[in-house]
Amino acid sequence: MLDLKDIKKHVARLGGLSFPPITPEGWTELGKVLQRRCLTINHVERVIDRWLETEENVPKPAQLGSLTSDVPSDPAMDRPILPDPCEGCAPEGFWRTVQRLDLNGQIVECSARCNCARGRHLAAMDAKRAEGATSNRTQPHPIDWRVDRKIGARKGD
Ligand SMILES: [Zn+2]
Repeated sequence: MLDLKDIKKHVARLGGLSFPPITPEGWTELGKVLQRRCLTINHVERVIDRWLETEENVPKPAQLGSLTSDVPSDPAMDRPILPDPCEGCAPEGFWRTVQRLDLNGQIVECSARCNCARGRHLAAMDAKRAEGATSNRTQPHPIDWRVDRKIGARKGD
């Protein structure tokens, strides 16, 4: 577990924002949230960085806690170096269109991660992100049918 003293050095960077806690305990509470949620001081730093980039007020402990789930601990997850898109997912390289059966047996077109190297990389990042998210957060995803049968998705593999 990280040393609260080290964490508080980073938390102190929030001191210039509006509506700071009035008591030292309030600041300690912010440090404790980060202590519970972050495994590395680098992650703490990245969470504070992100807050400073986007917010004007000192966060509430709950806000800081949820930010630790949104900010990946690994900087490589922010701007990943990805392989080039293949024909299936070009030009954007994020999704490819596949046809699937929905629960009513209707054929629907939906977006899915491609199965080229780039798509697999993105899918792995999706999974990692979902892992890091707390249980009460939902991960919106265009397809989330665990029992679907793929139609045509294998075409051209
Ligand atoms: Zn692809």
